[in-house]
Amino acid sequence: MSLLPVDEAVARIVASVTPLGKEPVSLDEALGRTLATPLAATRTQPPFPASAMDGYAVRAADTENVPAELKIIGVAAAGHGFNGTVGRGQAVRLSTGAPMPDGADAVLIKENAEAVDDDTVSAMDSATAGRHIRQPGLDFREGEVLLAAGRRFGAREIALAAAMNHATVPVRRRPKVAIISTGDELVRPGKVPGPDQIVASNDLGLTAFARLSGGEPHNLGIVIDDEEAIGEAVDAALAIPADILVTLGGASVGDHDLVQAVLLDKGMTLDFWRIAMRPGKPLMFGRFHRTLVLGLPGNPVSSIVCALLFLRPLISALLGAPQVDPSEPCLLGGDLRENDNRQDYLRASLAPGDFGLPTATALSTQDSSGLAVLASADCLIIRPPHAPPAKAGDPCRIIRLSGLQLV
Ligand code: AMP
Ligand code: MG
Repeated sequence: MSLLPVDEAVARIVASVTPLGKEPVSLDEALGRTLATPLAATRTQPPFPASAMDGYAVRAADTENVPAELKIIGVAAAGHGFNGTVGRGQAVRLSTGAPMPDGADAVLIKENAEAVDDDTVSAMDSATAGRHIRQPGLDFREGEVLLAAGRRFGAREIALAAAMNHATVPVRRRPKVAIISTGDELVRPGKVPGPDQIVASNDLGLTAFARLSGGEPHNLGIVIDDEEAIGEAVDAALAIPADILVTLGGASVGDHDLVQAVLLDKGMTLDFWRIAMRPGKPLMFGRFHRTLVLGLPGNPVSSIVCALLFLRPLISALLGAPQVDPSEPCLLGGDLRENDNRQDYLRASLAPGDFGLPTATALSTQDSSGLAVLASADCLIIRPPHAPPAKAGDPCRIIRLSGLQLV
């Protein structure tokens, strides 16, 4: 069986998905959720001409020759406008955010004003008509679409939606991501492993990753390498019902790699299996009636790199979010050998480089079980299949691992 190129695998995964349904959430709960429909302003902001500074509302013409004494006829503050009209030789005391009173066309800023007495102020510098006044709609106008469908809510989006006067927003339902780890050798962190056992790391890493990516993780725990046990866990995932079932391990061609056989036996339609990449060759994608299945390799680094490359786009597609190329240009910090037929993702460190680009230097250990190296890396260098030998300073592309953090 030939190996599928990474880009083709991602394209097939994304193409097989339609976005999930919508639900309303309050803005308090919107962080990390994905907007399901375009969001338009329900009001104009600012709704009235407003002062951008503390000072006095005046007529610019009255301050052409300075110093000029003006009579203070009232006060306008944020939330409290002045009802009268500013006439010739008159001024209204202003604070930032106050509506501009009728008749005034300029703000004499406090720094350019000198109090003469309680009722009189002297303009020490000319005020320019329109300056320091925020006109209605400076920020946005009623009906303007300011957030596109597929936009993820961060701090800026939440503030803007609030300013547009949306108390609740329509978001996509979070994809339910069931996660099953397989392996007789695995124990949960905190337990004492037997002499032939190791501590399972992938399910917890992938649970965090699914959440960071906008999914709702359901960690179904560790199952032993036994067809019946794996089958029961698959049934539990389908009963949720999970939108995505992620299996970890048991994905290769060893005697104890039973996951694919169990899934096929339960009626999964296999789309593809085995990718031309390193780490992570034995990746599998298929589907049950409504549950998409992503079978990830068991090696800890492979599973996380594959999650970054395949699970994130899958979750984004279910959320109706745009697909973004996670890679960016960079320069090599060291020489690299010719590559074989698999696309490499080399754990690497970043340093400032020339031409405004960083340099990426591959770390000395690239074993697909090395979580410590992965945690110390800044990025992955992408080495395309059959890439010729490369020299330090040559251009390359990288994926920053900051995508695995809360940012
Ligand atoms: P497998 O794909 O089951 O052949 O596993 C490949 C390697 O990854 C083996 O060395 C497993 O012990 C290891 N492995 C599998 N699952 C996990 C896990 N959940 N956490 C840590 N290591 C794992
Ligand atoms: Mg195994």
